[in-house]
Amino acid sequence: MPKQNLVVKLISMPDNLLDVIYTACRTCYSADGAVEIIDNITDDKEKKLSLIKKVISSGHYSTIEHIQLSFAINNISRAATHQLVRHRHMSFSQKSQRYVREKGEFDYIVPPAIEANKELYAKFEQHMIETATLYQELIQSGIKGEDARAILPNATTSSMVASLNLRELIHLANLRLCTRAQLEIRMLVKKMCALVEEREPWLSEHLVPKCERLGYCDEDNSCGRMKTKNG
Ligand SMILES: Cc1cc2nc3c(=O)[nH]c(=O)nc-3n(C[C@H](O)[C@H](O)[C@H](O)COP(=O)(O)OP(=O)(O)OC[C@H]3O[C@@H](n4cnc5c(N)ncnc54)[C@H](O)[C@@H]3O)c2cc1C
Repeated sequence: MPKQNLVVKLISMPDNLLDVIYTACRTCYSADGAVEIIDNITDDKEKKLSLIKKVISSGHYSTIEHIQLSFAINNISRAATHQLVRHRHMSFSQKSQRYVREKGEFDYIVPPAIEANKELYAKFEQHMIETATLYQELIQSGIKGEDARAILPNATTSSMVASLNLRELIHLANLRLCTRAQLEIRMLVKKMCALVEEREPWLSEHLVPKCERLGYCDEDNSCGRMKTKNG
């Protein structure tokens, strides 16, 4: 059965991201209207960045909600997508298990911790083969895909388009880049952030695990990267 590798592609991100945020920031504090501000926008990138950084660090986050980002994601487990869809400020379009029937041996993601254990990995593979056989039997007996999917595992591979604004990406990074987050979603968010940082390197200081933002670790079981709240 195929072993899948997570693929993430940035579908869209505004080319004039700095102009949008700068205009939003200046509109709040300038005598000029938003139209005059965008019509006379400066070419001085450092000037724009300086104001934007100041406004973000003050917690004035509505200014970065205007930046919409969309990603295409392949080869991700349903276990990971189930965690991702808990983020309520994101939008999703996900491969349906009702209308897209898994053909024969379905694809699945093998968690590295299971793959590393030869004996357990063999049992895991066997379980997937048996699941695929039963799935096919159900489909061939006329059971609808929407019911037959009941036996598909959390490891089943999925695909989705996910969109979110920049404020939510920072929040997502803060939660899911934490080493306490599950590995697969951590890798996903890492790839999403890397794609955004490639275009806007200044964002790397915001696309960090929450401990870097807080200055301490608020987890019960700290990984030791940062001191805990109580030292
Ligand atoms: C390490 C880890 C372990 C987890 N384990 C579990 C688990 O065992 N069981 C479980 O059920 N979930 C679990 N979760 C999911 C978690 O409870 C959240 O549902 C998920 O992380 C989304 O976070 P969020 O609500 O902050 O983000 P979003 O939904 O993206 O919302 C962003 C922010 O908007 C605000 N907001 C959004 N909606 C509301 C609202 N209705 N009311 C008020 N403010 C709102 C909040 O400030 C929120 O932080 C886990 C998450 C992590 C990171």
